[in-house]
Amino acid sequence: MTQTLNIDILTIFPEIFQSPLEHGIIRRAKQAGIVTITPHNLRDFTHDKHHVVDDRPFGGGEGMVLKPEPIFRALEFLTHKSEPENSSIILLTPQGRTFTQSLAVDLSRLKQIVLICGRYEGIDERVNQVFSTDEVSIGDYVISGGEFAALVIVDAVVRLLPNALGCKDSTANESFSSGLLDCPVYTRPAIYRGLEVPEVLQNGNHREIAQWRRRKALEKTLLKRPDLLDKAPLRKEDLDLISKIKENS
Ligand code: SAM
Repeated sequence: MTQTLNIDILTIFPEIFQSPLEHGIIRRAKQAGIVTITPHNLRDFTHDKHHVVDDRPFGGGEGMVLKPEPIFRALEFLTHKSEPENSSIILLTPQGRTFTQSLAVDLSRLKQIVLICGRYEGIDERVNQVFSTDEVSIGDYVISGGEFAALVIVDAVVRLLPNALGCKDSTANESFSSGLLDCPVYTRPAIYRGLEVPEVLQNGNHREIAQWRRRKALEKTLLKRPDLLDKAPLRKEDLDLISKIKENS
């Protein structure tokens, strides 16, 4: 039986998630019961009349900070039945470790992920002190809220779930999965504005096509992201090819 991944998202703007979760792979994965994705409004975990979720920073300064009480209550509610070894509480912050394909793979094996979306100046530090959160960033830049970072993570993780994609091997050859960037792809027409699709892709010889794709993936990686080659699992043939590519360039 397929395991279901439950993703809970804590946010003050749950409406942001309405449309992005209703298309393509994510929509199909939800319909197939592979994943549940539930945005939770932090205001629902307030007890005051005005549902206040933020306040001014101690010590003065610009902006507002998300208060600890609603987040504590929400996390206690969402994780009281969690199995710690099969779940992760992720605090989205530009100060966290950078999100990668390998982290996406790790997350896709869990049963529950809780994503906490910050806003304004961020989240009261005591959330991090009490709950063992994994601080994750989607890159070295600052965006206005964790919601878009959460969507990036949700998309990257859901497409890795078993049976989420139509074709079993679709993610195996993608950029980063094999340690390399993906090879170039083409579709019909075979000639467009005088530009012809490489002959080898049209000849139906699967062995030659596989060799060409591997060579192009190595070439692209060498050109655009040579740093990846240090960690990529390379075969002797790959190393020979890399030497040839270097000689030719
Ligand atoms: N004052 C914070 C700082 O300088 O580290 C930035 C706060 S930012 C304007 C508001 C929220 O957006 C953060 O709490 C976080 O949830 C989210 N955010 C911003 N940049 C992010 C990034 N690169 N990765 C993940 N989340 C991010």
